[in-house]
Amino acid sequence: MTQRKLFVTTALPYANGKFHIGHIMEYIQADIWVRHQRMQGSDVAFVCADDVHGAAITIAAEKAGQTPQEFVAAIAAGRQQYLDGFHISFDNWHSTDGPENHELAKQIYLDLKAQGLIATRTIKQFFDPVKGMFLADRYVKGQCPKCGAKDQFGDNCEVCGAVYAPTDLIEPYSVLSGVKPELRDSEHYFLTWSDPRCVEFMQTWTGAPGHLQTEVLNKIREWLEKDEGGEGGLNDWDISRDAPYFGIEIPDAPGKYFYVWLDAPIGYLASLKNYLDKKGVDYASYMRDPQLEQYHFIGKDIITFHTLFWPAMLYFSGRKTPDAVFVHGHLTVGGEKMSKSRGTGLDPLKYLSLGMNPEWLRYYLAAKLNARNEDLDFNPEDFMARVNSDLVGKYVNIASRAVKFIPGGKLVGSNVAALEPNKLIDGVRALFESREYGKALREVMAFADAVNMRFDGAAPWKLVKEGKTAEAAQVCSECLEAFKLLTACLKPVLPTLAAQAEAFLNCEPLTWSSAAQALGEGHQVGEYKHLMQRVDAKQVDALFEAPTEVSAPAAPSPQPSPAGGRGSEPGGEQVAPEITMDDFSKVDMRIAKVVACEAVEGSKKLLRLTLDVGEGRTRNVFSGIASAYKPEELAGKFVVVVANLAPRKMKFGVSEGMVLSASHGDEKANPGIFVLSAWPGAEPGMKVR
Ligand SMILES: [Zn+2]
Repeated sequence: MTQRKLFVTTALPYANGKFHIGHIMEYIQADIWVRHQRMQGSDVAFVCADDVHGAAITIAAEKAGQTPQEFVAAIAAGRQQYLDGFHISFDNWHSTDGPENHELAKQIYLDLKAQGLIATRTIKQFFDPVKGMFLADRYVKGQCPKCGAKDQFGDNCEVCGAVYAPTDLIEPYSVLSGVKPELRDSEHYFLTWSDPRCVEFMQTWTGAPGHLQTEVLNKIREWLEKDEGGEGGLNDWDISRDAPYFGIEIPDAPGKYFYVWLDAPIGYLASLKNYLDKKGVDYASYMRDPQLEQYHFIGKDIITFHTLFWPAMLYFSGRKTPDAVFVHGHLTVGGEKMSKSRGTGLDPLKYLSLGMNPEWLRYYLAAKLNARNEDLDFNPEDFMARVNSDLVGKYVNIASRAVKFIPGGKLVGSNVAALEPNKLIDGVRALFESREYGKALREVMAFADAVNMRFDGAAPWKLVKEGKTAEAAQVCSECLEAFKLLTACLKPVLPTLAAQAEAFLNCEPLTWSSAAQALGEGHQVGEYKHLMQRVDAKQVDALFEAPTEVSAPAAPSPQPSPAGGRGSEPGGEQVAPEITMDDFSKVDMRIAKVVACEAVEGSKKLLRLTLDVGEGRTRNVFSGIASAYKPEELAGKFVVVVANLAPRKMKFGVSEGMVLSASHGDEKANPGIFVLSAWPGAEPGMKVR
């Protein structure tokens, strides 16, 4: 088998929010394929990046009071916890605002221009006369021309889903100034997809065997074809936006920027170049290698950009075109479609924070994935059943049952050939190659069934009772050889479990070429440690519990738990989803001296505290601790206060901070409020970190 050289990507996530389960599913799908490739000794560059440009990012950043650069940097800083958490083995994560992307986007544009594929055209566009700027779609709002819903963006209606141009809006207004925008002429740049050369290329490329899945090709055909009246077919593509725009400036057109979708896929190459530069590999010669294969994993919502525009951009700029684009369907959860704003009930970080094994999810999704562009559903009951009965009940069990009957863990000679190891390995390997993961896992589990039947049929525990220990050891050695084969087959899906199994089997990291070799007579296996827990139904319930409200921070709102003080719910409530250091550092906690403390007339709950936070003035803070403390108990004490909490207007006055205290999640069963106080020596104003 010759070593293949592969460049693999997933779609670049737009950096206006956190990952949802749909992102994680795509990364798992691609990661399994990449790990399979690495097991055959291929040289893989598996890269991704944040897609950071465009008006939506600018708007999100403005809302957060940040520059677009600051905003996307904060988003990028939150990515790694998901990727590590679900064992996604990207070689590089970059940004479309990196210097490599600026350089490559400009060069590709100039190359396309040299081919005569760039045209300029004057179009009518909304202009804000107060702000003195052209308005991108997202900066114009008005009434939906279809359903009449108010306050809809210039590109589509969130109420009825209609797609339209900003100029179609009824009573449009500028989001920036609120005034009615004027229509003005603006020169825009177009990629001329209507050029016969482009049409011909797209038809040839998409139709070539292996490039696209059949169902994707059928869809594309509809878009490419003109009807008898010459209507339909692709329009030229408007690739410019007017300043101000967070993006890449068009080289020969000051004040004009590339539309975000022009430079986004170029980000694949930019991330690759960034990775190769770090490794000291020359990008140009890497890309020139005729052996190089290039693959993109994407979702079905971005087919046009990736199967028509992207290959054509590469081809006409004299670059390598993809070997295939792999399209997957959407993930629904419990039969419900994902909502862009709310995501689904399955929050990936919550999954991890509940201590749920990431490889359960990898296994479950793999079992449902195939090579077609089809939607798949996460069903909680099915999830538990597959993990518990297949993965733990069938696979893990083989090792734990068999090792007991092998004296000293030293394998004896067994009839390994009867297992037909090559048949299993070759079959499963081919299924991974063609992304038929569900079929691959069905083969694996059928094999595991056969092994378990062999074990049960031989009944080694009986053999031992009958004094036939050698026979028992022989059967069980065969079962461990089978367990090794199964481990190799599951390794692309379950990298951590496979590594633990390899440690137990005391073998080298398994590859496809070593998978079928027997451990052999006399091989010493290691000590068996339990490899995987079963899914606990309580975890699944907790995963889909509605999120608790995060507003009203001044009043502690404990989350009562029916389970009381169980081990998984310290203090009667679950630990909140993981946050980053950046999140934590937003909360500024300081030492405060309680200068005075008094009861609040008309309130049984509140005490009024006068706090010295070292600011040369005092603060007034209300705290709901009257049930636990008398005012005189607190005067003179040093407490911890959240100093940067927005002042909160209460019935009795304004509260300028929050005093920290502890309480149980189930206050009725475990009453008591305990104020945190500092050890002697702490001074007012000192930061708590
Ligand atoms: Zn509408």
